[in-house]
Amino acid sequence: MAELKLNPSICAKCQTRDCIMKCQYIDLPLEKAKEEQEKMFRGEKSEILTQCVTCFGCEEYCPHNNHPFFFISEQQEKLGINPVPVPVTDAMVNVLTPAGDSMAIDCKKNVIDMCNFTMLAGMLRGKIFKDVTTFGGTDNFCNLMYMHFARSSVTMKRVPGVIDNIMTKYLKKNNITDLICFHDECYGTYTKWAPLNGVEVPFKPVHFFEFIYNRLLELKDDIKPLNIKVAYQRSCSSRITPETDHFVDDIFKLIGVERVDRVYDRKNALCCGAAVEMHQKFDLVEDIQDKNVDDMKANGAAYCVFSCPLCFFTLMGKVFKKGMMPILMSDLCLKALGE
Ligand code: SF4
Ligand code: SF4
Repeated sequence: MAELKLNPSICAKCQTRDCIMKCQYIDLPLEKAKEEQEKMFRGEKSEILTQCVTCFGCEEYCPHNNHPFFFISEQQEKLGINPVPVPVTDAMVNVLTPAGDSMAIDCKKNVIDMCNFTMLAGMLRGKIFKDVTTFGGTDNFCNLMYMHFARSSVTMKRVPGVIDNIMTKYLKKNNITDLICFHDECYGTYTKWAPLNGVEVPFKPVHFFEFIYNRLLELKDDIKPLNIKVAYQRSCSSRITPETDHFVDDIFKLIGVERVDRVYDRKNALCCGAAVEMHQKFDLVEDIQDKNVDDMKANGAAYCVFSCPLCFFTLMGKVFKKGMMPILMSDLCLKALGE
């Protein structure tokens, strides 16, 4: 298995240890954090490895681009530290094994990879999505999810085949160079994880929000500003591509939406709770979800907008009970177009 090259010598000189000091789930004083990191670098067990809830946050906190979470996930696997009970992990690995049943199809110019959310393809409708082709399923599933299970090896084993399938069945035969990634996690896989692991990506990944933003620009005259306040729920994988966050603000500006300024947004975002639930830390799930949703409500949000469908399914009940409307970004944009 290829290994991410976290450079311990960069960490040794790092005064702030932001990866741990900004972590919202591990509470260690600075000196102890350094000690526990040193243990990790020596290949030993560490409190960081056992307490990490795999939120991806430290990928963004590290000011030196040293990829601490990818390293943590690999070390967990090497040392047999399983954040999710092994039978659950094994079941998840098996159930999403590439089925090998995807068919080559003729595609329109805009091709959207739905990852494993093909059941949501019907939501991509109206003027924004009038000329798109969608595909998805296990053969096209990015597999980055296994970082939550300390199974980087599964991601490594499967991603090259997934890329090959996407090229062969959809892109190459239709002379298409760009792949629009419905799931933020696919975008992170192809723009960050793959290059770091020496996996070639022969297409240009396009973030779903970038596609929506550009389409909204074309449809500018049809937009009726929504004039509402919304809370935005970041996804875990957005932590590896924080440079895409501006598309949220850009889209909101176009459709007349105010992103509420709240405690748990942007760098200080909280996990939706899905990963923590898989880790069976149920009290923590309740705690972070309540803090997060209360923060949305207290800052006047009428809607909570999601990028990731899994975050949407995980948090929608609590959002709704607090009197706010959970909604995916694409649906919010259709609403601004009166669709
Ligand atoms: S991973 Fe980044 S933030 Fe953490 S100790 Fe190393 S250099 Fe510092
Ligand atoms: S992935 Fe999240 S929980 Fe784990 S160490 Fe990084 S910030 Fe903390």
